[in-house]
Amino acid sequence: MVNYSPQYVNKFSCLGSKCPETCCHGMMIDIDKETHSKYQKVKIEGIKNIPNLLQKKDNPTDKHFSSIKLKKDGHCSFLGNDGLCSIQKKYGENYLSHTCYTFPRKNINFKENKLVTLSVACPEAARLCLSNKNSMEIYEDKFYKKKKFNLVSEKIETPFANTGNLITNKVYELLQNEKISYINSLVIFNKLLEEQLNISQNYEQFDEIYKFFFENFCEINIITFDNSNLKILFLANIFNIFNQNNLKHTSNNFYTQKLINLIEDSYHELVGRFDNDDKAIDNLKKINQKYFFKFEHKNSHIYRNFFLNEILGYAHLVTNKNSSIKYNFYMSIFLATISKMILLGICSKEKREPTLEDFINIINRVERSNQIFFHHDKNFEMLFNINILKFYDKIDKKSLFNSSLLVFG
Ligand code: SF4
Repeated sequence: MVNYSPQYVNKFSCLGSKCPETCCHGMMIDIDKETHSKYQKVKIEGIKNIPNLLQKKDNPTDKHFSSIKLKKDGHCSFLGNDGLCSIQKKYGENYLSHTCYTFPRKNINFKENKLVTLSVACPEAARLCLSNKNSMEIYEDKFYKKKKFNLVSEKIETPFANTGNLITNKVYELLQNEKISYINSLVIFNKLLEEQLNISQNYEQFDEIYKFFFENFCEINIITFDNSNLKILFLANIFNIFNQNNLKHTSNNFYTQKLINLIEDSYHELVGRFDNDDKAIDNLKKINQKYFFKFEHKNSHIYRNFFLNEILGYAHLVTNKNSSIKYNFYMSIFLATISKMILLGICSKEKREPTLEDFINIINRVERSNQIFFHHDKNFEMLFNINILKFYDKIDKKSLFNSSLLVFG
């Protein structure tokens, strides 16, 4: 077995009690069935009625059987005053649920090989992943830098899975190339995903088909108009979704509330304080030009690293015919858009370029509370909030990718 991981994963070390957040702060912590049974019997000084702290799922499965209720401040009910997990402290790490044991690692197991990435919902993982332009270089078994990787073995896998492997290698090559705009790289990736089934039936023609997409989409201007009006509409819609659904008041978790407050601040700064949309659009255009473009230009790796980390984090879906890979990809674009709107709000209010630290903190916050935008279906696949989909539908009914990219780019 070969283990592949981006360079930053090998540098990761948990901050422990120095972590500004702790793993479980504001997160939905799923508990598997086996751990759920074990937790029914644990006894921890100072924590009463432990079985009641576990909330059984509506459609429980062995992997997602229950979740831990969070305290009002967003902390896990098992987190001690010393900032440490009281279950781990008393019973050891073998007693932890799969989620707690592995976080922030995402171990993506293929039949023969394995890919390990980290979730940027961990602040230290986000810092390592997003602050260095070389963070996403792939290493084999921690030591050997690779330009290509084999997630699946050509001999034993289906043509679809092998095509998925080639697509993942191509998106890695594209997003690592500073000379290619990451927006164009995302378009090429999406084209390959859309055509994956056809390509897998003509597997030997992969290079030719890729060349066609590359030559057609590598250098063209994807967004040929100023999209400030779409950004303003997007933010206004997200703000309305929270207000209409009273999410603001029903949110029982301090951390999620922090994200909602950031979105509200951004809305008031970029939309609410203007008496008409034209003025808001005009302000956003100026802010984008004056501050955000400059910041992005100086830190051209940030979105390339972000998207690559996201895509590698669901690489198993690219090799699986029945997966929701495209949907996951569009959710990543959505999360990047939310982060960008919050940062634009900060630029406008504080009349300054964002810093790399702002960018990392906001991405971390958005990822950590992403459950406010999505929900799980009965198979625990993530789905967009229906009102967000309705908004995207108004931009391009036929393509969720086009809609999300047109707002983000
Ligand atoms: S969030 Fe990351 S750095 Fe913080 S305690 Fe968890 S793993 Fe460690």
